[in-house]
Amino acid sequence: MRRAIATVSMAGSLAEKLEAAASVGFDGIELFEADLTYFPGTPEEVAGRARELGLAIVALQPFRDAEGLPLDERARMLDRLERKLDLMQRLGTRLLLVCSQTRPDTTGEPERLAEDLRLMAERAAARGLGLGYEALAWGRHVSDWRQAWELVRRADHPALGLILDTFHLLVRGSPTAPIRELPAEKIVLVQTADAPAIAMEPLFWSRHYRCFPGQGELDVEGVLRELASTGWDGWLSHEIFSDDFRSTSARQAATDGMRSFLFIEERLGRSSMPPRPQAKRLAFVEFVESAERAEPFRATLRALGLPRTHRHRSKRVELYRAGEVAIVLNLEDEGFPHAFQLLHGLSVAAIAIETDAAERARARAAALGATPFVSPVGAGELVIPAVRGVAGSLLFFLDPPRPGSSFHEIDFLPDPDPRPVPDTGLVAIDHLAQVVPPAELPSWVLFYRALFGLEPERRTDLVDPRGPIVSRALESADGAVRIVLNSSPAQTSAAGRFLARTAGAGAQHVAIACRDLLAAARAIPSELKLPIPANYYDDLEARFGLDREFVCALRAAGALYDRIGSGELLQLYTRSLNGFFFELVERRGGYDRYGEANTPVRLAAQAELDRSPAEALTLSRAV
Ligand code: MG
Ligand code: MG
Repeated sequence: MRRAIATVSMAGSLAEKLEAAASVGFDGIELFEADLTYFPGTPEEVAGRARELGLAIVALQPFRDAEGLPLDERARMLDRLERKLDLMQRLGTRLLLVCSQTRPDTTGEPERLAEDLRLMAERAAARGLGLGYEALAWGRHVSDWRQAWELVRRADHPALGLILDTFHLLVRGSPTAPIRELPAEKIVLVQTADAPAIAMEPLFWSRHYRCFPGQGELDVEGVLRELASTGWDGWLSHEIFSDDFRSTSARQAATDGMRSFLFIEERLGRSSMPPRPQAKRLAFVEFVESAERAEPFRATLRALGLPRTHRHRSKRVELYRAGEVAIVLNLEDEGFPHAFQLLHGLSVAAIAIETDAAERARARAAALGATPFVSPVGAGELVIPAVRGVAGSLLFFLDPPRPGSSFHEIDFLPDPDPRPVPDTGLVAIDHLAQVVPPAELPSWVLFYRALFGLEPERRTDLVDPRGPIVSRALESADGAVRIVLNSSPAQTSAAGRFLARTAGAGAQHVAIACRDLLAAARAIPSELKLPIPANYYDDLEARFGLDREFVCALRAAGALYDRIGSGELLQLYTRSLNGFFFELVERRGGYDRYGEANTPVRLAAQAELDRSPAEALTLSRAV
């Protein structure tokens, strides 16, 4: 497979797009004509620049309104075609993408459409060039790839081939199995695009919501498997129209596009990456705070039942542990942690994932386009492989622990003066929730998916009283590593407020599994807990038919409850510190979700506490 990306998939100028595509290793680009129109130079200069960068110009696109026109317009269409063929020769590209007709005043008579395509192919052939015909999902007469193929077959010209676009194919639900019957030499280009599975009019869906394969929910891989069975081995080109991508950099889109190809190739058994490491658990979460302001956070950790067990040998870094839970508190006033703290305030500057092979995980992340990070370490201290993660924070990879070689045994010394904490029965980190800007959500979904094979769930739309939140959870196969990614277009939603307050810090909450949530809740002071309205408990009792005593216990604990089938979830949230909060969970009977049914209650309670002084003042005046 040769990898290309359509220039329309990236933001910025054509020069930036070429640069970006080459920098991440694409072999070619598909030139969207508008990008050339806006380019302040000649087509020959574009060709020269592409050549310098080692990029083939795989195709020029699109040529519209071609077949089935009223007969008196046909000559003009062919003139228009000649001008595009001129342009192709100046660009040094051999393929023109012709998309199916959308005009209503045209004929759908197959003989006539095939004849038009044949006439066009003759013009291209006269110059040694070729055409590819693509069915748009919203084409007037040709909207299914099988119709496009039928016309290409009828036109029967060596300079005319078929272009397949996975988006058009999959949104229409067209069968993909017949692809395996196609003669490979007649498939001149395959465009790859994915999308979230939302019911929407295809034109609007395509123009605004496409994403790279692996980021969405369509079975792009299935189409490529059918193609592979024909022996086809031509150009694959990402063609992504997306509002989100238009608001990121060309480099970001190119990085995501290459990551998508690497991911897909691996699924098709043609991987060029280090083998996938196993994500075993979230081993620790590292917070940064200024030393002078650290006491409230320390008190929160203690109140949750996390004692300070260790201090770092050479740095102002403290370790809090209970069960398998490890929280690092970094109070350094220099280097990366300090810079992160200055920018974001109290926040999560790093997470560590225990894997079966830390160095391989780092190498694979780098192969997937992540930025490597090397921390300064003292003599004899552990070098932990790392890359940049969400919000520029660090993602550490740990090897499996061996006696005496764990990070805390090498870099830390036991705290000489541990303060007692209540026993809250903490077990392990259950999940991590990160907030990312909407344009980055698909990117991070694919990052975790490609790196560790975490499987993304379908998107969930959460109801926040002050703006919508989109959520996608990713889980390892055994459920031991769970990461929830949230994003919101609204600055007023909980996710939006968090990003604004922390200048985009990333991790918003960490959920910790405990053995007995009601017992833990009794040990935790109520001023630490997120207040839950009494109405919630009345509703709960009615909804699940719970016995009164149990509901009273939940209410006294400030806990939330959910039940799906025979699985039950108990949850407890803390108030937030600089937008960050902890959650305690107790999963019973194999409960496998995140308490989504309770999320609106949590979001409303947080919105209530977050009302700004100005708003509170307005309200108090209004009363
Ligand atoms: Mg297309
Ligand atoms: Mg949660």
